Amino acid sequence: MDKRQFLKTSGAFATTALLPGFSIAEQKKMTPRTNWSGNLTYHTDNLFEPSTVAELQQVIKDHPSIRPLGTRHSFNGLADSTHAQVALTHFKDIKLDEAAKTVTVGAGVRYGDVAPVIDAKGFALHNLASLPHISVPGAIATGTHGSGIHNKNLSSSVAAIEFVDANGSLQTLSRAKDGDKFNGAVVNLGLLGVMTNITLDVEPTFQVAQTVYTDLPFAELEHHFDDIFSAGYSVSIFTDWQHGRATELWLKRLVKPGEKLDTPALFYNGKLATKDLHPIPALDPVNCTPQMNVPGPWYERLPHFRMNFTPSSGEELQTEYFVPRAHAYEAIRAVETLKDHITPHLLTTELRVIAADDLWLSMAYQQDSLAIHFTWKRQWPEVQKILPLIQQKLAPFNPRPHWAKLSTYEGAHFRQVYPKLADFKSLVQQYDPNGKFRNELITTELYS
Ligand SMILES: Cc1cc2nc3c(=O)[nH]c(=O)nc-3n(C[C@H](O)[C@H](O)[C@H](O)COP(=O)(O)OP(=O)(O)OC[C@H]3O[C@@H](n4cnc5c(N)ncnc54)[C@H](O)[C@@H]3O)c2cc1C
Repeated sequence: MDKRQFLKTSGAFATTALLPGFSIAEQKKMTPRTNWSGNLTYHTDNLFEPSTVAELQQVIKDHPSIRPLGTRHSFNGLADSTHAQVALTHFKDIKLDEAAKTVTVGAGVRYGDVAPVIDAKGFALHNLASLPHISVPGAIATGTHGSGIHNKNLSSSVAAIEFVDANGSLQTLSRAKDGDKFNGAVVNLGLLGVMTNITLDVEPTFQVAQTVYTDLPFAELEHHFDDIFSAGYSVSIFTDWQHGRATELWLKRLVKPGEKLDTPALFYNGKLATKDLHPIPALDPVNCTPQMNVPGPWYERLPHFRMNFTPSSGEELQTEYFVPRAHAYEAIRAVETLKDHITPHLLTTELRVIAADDLWLSMAYQQDSLAIHFTWKRQWPEVQKILPLIQQKLAPFNPRPHWAKLSTYEGAHFRQVYPKLADFKSLVQQYDPNGKFRNELITTELYS
């Protein structure tokens, strides 16, 4: 029996033996159980899906080690466990408070579930990630972001969280009453407990029109980086790193009802696209949100992918590094020197900007940021060798890797780039003194 098989088997026996709550919380055993991309098989077959807070509290009390699981979109072992996982797929409530301008969602709600509900009542969230299929707690626990020079990440719109801690106690923390402690608790990597409800700020609904340009020369970024990224509410640049140019630029602009936005034939020497495109140029754009300057609701334009289709390519890996926006152009050119290593294994790179926030573990903590993202072919042996090369090129910019994507950093790097990491660990100690919610990746990144 190899180590992986042993861990799987021993985890299953240990947990089943400790299961007084087994009859109430639904336990699922499926093999193989993988993340969304299929690059990771979870090291436990024990998945619990409680229907009530009381059932969740019992599951947590019954297990010495357990990890919360969202919609499984992380590419690394962040949500993995050798013992048990708990997914709140049955927690589907959505409660809009129009007076407070907030919506409170159960932890099983995805952005694509809540968006049309609040839009129908005249409200919107400030931004969305590239896909609407991810759960709200999974996204906010990892600092998930969209783009926009004035847009902070999705975690920044969290007004309150409710969670069950390691003792099984129900806790609530809010921006209004908990001050800086709340800044530590939102991007929590699932380490404070299992979030049951999340309250998000809402704002008046808005419309967006998406226009795509192709072949924008990188040279334009040297003096116009901020102008280009300020030209829309949310702007994304895609590249394959070859020929010193962006393959595509997606400009998502606010548009008033009845208004027709100008679409000049050239945008910083990029050419106006004449049909819908996929960020991976070889793929059919049928999965993508509408482009060609056609206005639509915020939630059908801010993500790149439609809710009812598979996002992106599926057979992929992802990596992302955050660097100060002030050094964006130098960082891009530094990565470009590795283009002949990168391109053969790449599906696409996306460049986005994220406004600074005060959330302790946010990749944009107190730093307006450029995020340099790689969607790789599922070729981990090769990609694993390229990541240290990219990390070396980006070292002068102290990159923060996306918590849910693949990197090869260990503890010392995280201590260097997150000034509030020690405070975060003290906060974790308060709600999980014995490390019930830790796993192998967390130990490597935060406790080694
Ligand atoms: C195709 C694709 C596109 C993506 N696009 C973007 C993008 O545009 N921007 C971006 O920033 N990221 C992006 N991501 C990454 C994605 O946003 C993160 O992986 C996010 O964490 C996924 O949420 P999830 O619900 O799948 O969480 P999971 O992967 O299931 O879990 C992630 C983390 O959240 C924790 N967690 C989940 N539920 C709870 C809970 N109830 N309580 C406490 N902790 C919990 C888990 O323990 C784990 O630590 C993308 C991923 C994919 C596959």
